[in-house]
Amino acid sequence: MKHNFRLTKEQREFVNSQKSENKKKRIIESLRSQYEFENSLEGTAYNLKILPCRQKLERTIVQTVHELPKRVKQFVYDNCEFLSISRFEGLCLDVNARYPWLIMLRDNASKSTIAHEIAHARLGHKTAEPCPPGDSEKNERAAWQLAGKWGFHKKIKQRIN
Ligand SMILES: [Zn+2]
Repeated sequence: MKHNFRLTKEQREFVNSQKSENKKKRIIESLRSQYEFENSLEGTAYNLKILPCRQKLERTIVQTVHELPKRVKQFVYDNCEFLSISRFEGLCLDVNARYPWLIMLRDNASKSTIAHEIAHARLGHKTAEPCPPGDSEKNERAAWQLAGKWGFHKKIKQRIN
């Protein structure tokens, strides 16, 4: 997803309220670098909560979240924690842990699977069962649809048992 730096209305007013041109420039520069960091892979990685896991999975999670729309990204930062597990392809639990959603993924989870699990969380689907078999078909379809809207598409691989 391509992001272009633009001052918000409030930021513009703040900059305009400064008397010194130098100070205006410095404020804009620091807002720009903050913006660029937030929209970089490093910024995404910095904001995510990923419990220790293989580097490959960590990288895939960061890349996936990096490609999400801004508002969804913030939702993930505020509500989701990621964990690597070996048994299930992807599981989305509502737990009374540090964050409302614990997203469990296999080490080889694809970007579409990760986006799919995030979509379940975003839609408020609560399941303590592995997904897909425990998922209602309706929830399953809604999650794929939402992930598709974000630009992640279901792999050809059949996910229904
Ligand atoms: Zn699912």
